[in-house]
Amino acid sequence: MSLIMSLNSGSSSLKFQVFRMPAEVLIASGLIERIGLPSSVFTVKANDHEESSTLDIPNHKEAIRLVLESLMSHGIVSDLKDIAGIGHRIVHGGEKYSASVVINEQVEKDIEVLSDLAPLHNPANLLGVRVIDEILPEAVQVAVFDTAFHQTMEPVSYMYPLPYEYYEKYGIRKYGFHGTSHGYVTKRLREILGSENSRRIISCHLGNGGSLAAVKNGKCVNTTMGFTPLAGIMMGTRSGDIDPSILAYLSEKEHLSLQGVTDLCNKKSGLLGVSGISSDMRDIENAIKEGSARAKLACDMYVQRVCNTIAAYAVQLGGVDAILFTAGIGENSIYLRQLIIETLEDAFPIELDRTANNIRRKEAKISTASSRIQVWVIPTNEELVIARDTYRLMK
Ligand code: ADP
Repeated sequence: MSLIMSLNSGSSSLKFQVFRMPAEVLIASGLIERIGLPSSVFTVKANDHEESSTLDIPNHKEAIRLVLESLMSHGIVSDLKDIAGIGHRIVHGGEKYSASVVINEQVEKDIEVLSDLAPLHNPANLLGVRVIDEILPEAVQVAVFDTAFHQTMEPVSYMYPLPYEYYEKYGIRKYGFHGTSHGYVTKRLREILGSENSRRIISCHLGNGGSLAAVKNGKCVNTTMGFTPLAGIMMGTRSGDIDPSILAYLSEKEHLSLQGVTDLCNKKSGLLGVSGISSDMRDIENAIKEGSARAKLACDMYVQRVCNTIAAYAVQLGGVDAILFTAGIGENSIYLRQLIIETLEDAFPIELDRTANNIRRKEAKISTASSRIQVWVIPTNEELVIARDTYRLMK
């Protein structure tokens, strides 16, 4: 028996889950928000009990110390050495990492170098690794990369039609993100359907951030996020794909730097930008019920982008056996799933089972028995993948 902690260290937040392996039992989880800001919030759930406290947590080292202390005080571990492995979510693994690896000095260096491609994420992820190096030097640390699952894409899918030299000089290409999630949910669906009936899957990870992946025989052949997570479908606050000339045009008109316009595309666009109401799909659904035309427009744009991508991936895959929905919106929004599948019904041999679709957060088939393309909801679990990979690589 081993205790494994999966850690997602963000710039101002830290999420953790502790599993007993190999039984895969979740025994504690928690979240620290607002690290480095006044009134950080620490929430921990253990022994069927959740508690939240507000205190000042100046940095990640203190945050991780606090997590470990609380695991001791809740009786989850009696000695910190009980935690045999720590798996880290690392956003960018570049072209070098197509699978999870045990972290050594070289891996740390690589993650640091790749910060150039993921300046908001990799430094914060690496900070988590370095703090654990200090506090728990004997624990095995494993890196699980968000980009790894997409490394099977061919150049025809990952290259941008820019001068080739920029790929060679700067690594400008499509990397894709949410790979841990797409990998987990498509593998799960292949277990359910059998490999013969799941050769061509389109995976829709629809959360605050969102991406689709086209998966052939278990391998990713295309995905919507690109060089950065700003690309692809419309998201909560991100524009997704837009005409790139808009950036320079807006920069001039609004007297913003290019970085300022990029920030606008990341933080003020998407559902929030179009609706003017919220980035949260629940708020958008409520606003539609109250008659908001802009919320309806935002939602219709979202649906159109998802459907157009599904159609494009159907062509690339040479047909579709199954479409799956996952993440916050994909698992919970009965309304969005209905809009998406009903839009596809005119063009594809697909039919929604409206009664079966009436579920949230659980594994279910939501297409009718006669639908040639099956539609499924598969809850994602990135933390479990991180714990599994860590346990496997420790042995
Ligand atoms: P993140 O990308 O931050 O991990 P999540 O996967 O948690 O995001 O997804 C957050 C999104 O899921 C939000 O837009 C939220 O509105 C949506 N969501 C969560 N529950 C529901 C629900 N019951 N109905 C509709 N949307 C929901």
